[in-house]
Amino acid sequence: MPRRPYLSSRLQGFGTTVFSEMSALAVQTGALNLGQGFPDSDGPDEVKQAAIDAIFAGVNQYPPGPGTLDLRTAIAEHQKRFYNMSLNPADEVLVTAGATEALAAALLGLCETGDEVIAFDPTYDSYAAGIAMAGAVLKPVPLRPQADGTFGFDDEELRRAFTTRTRLIMLNTPHNPTGKVFTLSEMQLIAELCLERNVIAVTDEVYEHMVFDGSHIPLAGLPGMRDRTVTIGSAGKTFSFTGWKIGWATGPAPIISAVRTAKQFLTYVNGAPFQPAVAVGLRLGDSYFDQLLVQMVAKKELLCEKLEQAGFGVLAPQGTYFVTADISTVTTKKSLPFCMGLPEEAGVVAVPCSVFYSDDRMGQDHIRFCFAKSDAFLAEAGDRLIAAYG
Ligand SMILES: *Cc1c(COP(=O)(O)O)cnc(C)c1O
Repeated sequence: MPRRPYLSSRLQGFGTTVFSEMSALAVQTGALNLGQGFPDSDGPDEVKQAAIDAIFAGVNQYPPGPGTLDLRTAIAEHQKRFYNMSLNPADEVLVTAGATEALAAALLGLCETGDEVIAFDPTYDSYAAGIAMAGAVLKPVPLRPQADGTFGFDDEELRRAFTTRTRLIMLNTPHNPTGKVFTLSEMQLIAELCLERNVIAVTDEVYEHMVFDGSHIPLAGLPGMRDRTVTIGSAGKTFSFTGWKIGWATGPAPIISAVRTAKQFLTYVNGAPFQPAVAVGLRLGDSYFDQLLVQMVAKKELLCEKLEQAGFGVLAPQGTYFVTADISTVTTKKSLPFCMGLPEEAGVVAVPCSVFYSDDRMGQDHIRFCFAKSDAFLAEAGDRLIAAYG
């Protein structure tokens, strides 16, 4: 990438994301956009109504810095209900402007310049930029496709990534973009290394309610980890309101206090009328969360089946609303040029997995599709891929 004259050295190398380019291509060509990760239908009506009611009830000025007490209480109740974790809403829960701000504030509030931050590669696209903005250094540990179609890492590579400079490890489970759900034994190894090396964990659990087999395991629930883990969630993903940008971070008071200090000078606060609405969402009955999962499983199966019929190798996800396809069975192109041609060739948009890796040799045969779309949309996209490649 050419050096841009006004951009700070910390952010050289971070261009506009491929997502905007792809979405522009989708608009130009009328292609079906399975690229960017957002649902095409909104969340529950009672949650929407609560936001509307809050606006008319005058909940329109700055909320309290850490978030409204009622929402912090609802977040604590949610962690108790699903994971049996007890949190004090007073100082162990922080409401943020989406999970993105929680991640950035954790990095800015917890890292010294030059500290190392371990993350599994590929990463969600804000991680590397957040680490750079904090003046820290990303130490990637690669996730590679395994023979069984899941993604895995090498234990030794993870061990070696921990050095005397390691401050944090970032864990995203279920993992975007791969759809990997980290196993209990993988998380036990991560926990063991954090305890041994006195490292803090920042866990991005925005897809916690989209785990297809078994149930979600928060790293903070493992022995010894409660005192050193920041757990991050998002109403965008759990309630399909990505534009509301309400997220949260929970953890031990001294760590949350550090995160809050950074958060205070990023946005200070956000989304006053959305905060009571998200509290309503978090208190919805089990049927909401069960239904969300049932729908996502059906969508995953629908798209995976179509991708197989189109001749792609399918790395079926264990969670999230993304699926990775291996394109080497249908093309000799690498993932970026393949995705650039896909709207013209098939009328569909997907994202090349190479953009998520810090190692640019990786993800060359893999592309990511988002299946948080209507069944009709997925079926049509699938049929277009079958027509083009099947
Ligand atoms: C969507 C997403 C986020 C960002 O969540 P917001 O609440 O929209 O800021 C963070 N991490 C992962 C893995 C995501 O997929």
